[in-house]
Amino acid sequence: MRQNKTILVTGGAGYIGSHTCVELIQNGYQIVVLDNYLNSTKLALKRVEEITQTSLKIYPQDIRNKMALRQIFAQHNIDAIIHFAGLKAVGESVAKPLTYYDNNVGGSIILLKEAQKAGCKNLIFSSSATVYGTPEKLPITENCPTGNTTNPYGTSKFMIEEILQDTYQADQAWKIALLRYFNPVGAHASGKIGENPNGIPNNLMPFIAQVASGKLNHLEVFGNDYDTLDGTGIRDYIHVMDLAKGHVLALDYLLTKSKGEVLTVNLGTGKGYSVLQMVKAFAKASGKKIPYTIEDRRPGDIASCFADVNKAHKILNWHAELDIETMCSDAWRFIEKNSVKTS
Ligand code: NAD
Ligand code: UDP
Repeated sequence: MRQNKTILVTGGAGYIGSHTCVELIQNGYQIVVLDNYLNSTKLALKRVEEITQTSLKIYPQDIRNKMALRQIFAQHNIDAIIHFAGLKAVGESVAKPLTYYDNNVGGSIILLKEAQKAGCKNLIFSSSATVYGTPEKLPITENCPTGNTTNPYGTSKFMIEEILQDTYQADQAWKIALLRYFNPVGAHASGKIGENPNGIPNNLMPFIAQVASGKLNHLEVFGNDYDTLDGTGIRDYIHVMDLAKGHVLALDYLLTKSKGEVLTVNLGTGKGYSVLQMVKAFAKASGKKIPYTIEDRRPGDIASCFADVNKAHKILNWHAELDIETMCSDAWRFIEKNSVKTS
């Protein structure tokens, strides 16, 4: 079934996109990648080609370029889209809300319109646990309220989810999966692709990795007075390769369904780790010291966040397999092997 299906991967040169490209190819899907390299480089896709021993069809284009999209849909028989392309830095979204709404929301609308015109109504969207805002209960189920977001990035994800729900309501031929990722970390086991953000990282894991490599001199821990086991914030870290596998299974599910639907699924491990537990795990995996200071809480942060993962297991037969040690050692291997930027 997978062999003759072609998937358009927007944002395929990015962190999660590049790992998912590997998994799609290795599971028999054909792919076409579109990325404007706003937050990535060509090297990541070269590495995908190396890992998979294939030659990729790559369009260095913006999702807001409708003529480019039209050309892609005309040249390829696209069966489904995995839509990763978007901007993702929370702090930057507060400073540049219009840029975020234009790129994420505006770009998604243009993509959807062109897909609809081309008759391609199967789509997986990269959503986020951020749509839950401050969770009412833990673990977070897919039925928990959404929309109480605290920054334009999160609001853009919520808006796109609503747009996709409305799109389905208007035309129930659409088959859509909203995959709400928790905290993706780690790298491909080859060390060829991984997470290497521009500038100083916002997220915990790449920050710790740069402290371990000596690029940054210490980690600032944002608060140790939360109501958690050691006072530091708890998150559900998930290995990016587990996440990538979740996309393949979601795609299998959508493409074999006879009827349209909007499937909403959390992708996490269901387990939470504190900032200090992550520091300890990374220090062990890398054999490096991770000096840190305790600072004030970061505005907008919540104490704890972890997923209820039963729905993903029940519907997609998916669960995360890789543990925190593997997440840290794979992330460290990527850092050690690469002094250049690859995503
Ligand atoms: P990333 O920045 O590494 O990848 C996004 C890719 O999209 C980049 O290669 C970028 O160049 C490309 N892109 C951005 N705007 C584009 C446009 N207008 N046209 C074409 N390409 C464009 O980010 P990532 O971590 O791989 O995240 C992928 C998706 O998952 C994003 O939508 C993000 O919001 C979502 N997500 C990420 C996380 C996370 O922690 N990494 C968590 C939840 C959801
Ligand atoms: N964090 C931290 N120092 C940093 C970056 C993050 O202490 O430099 C903490 C943050 O307060 C949160 C956890 O690490 O408790 C995960 O933060 P991240 O930004 O990676 O993910 P998010 O908060 O968006 O889930």
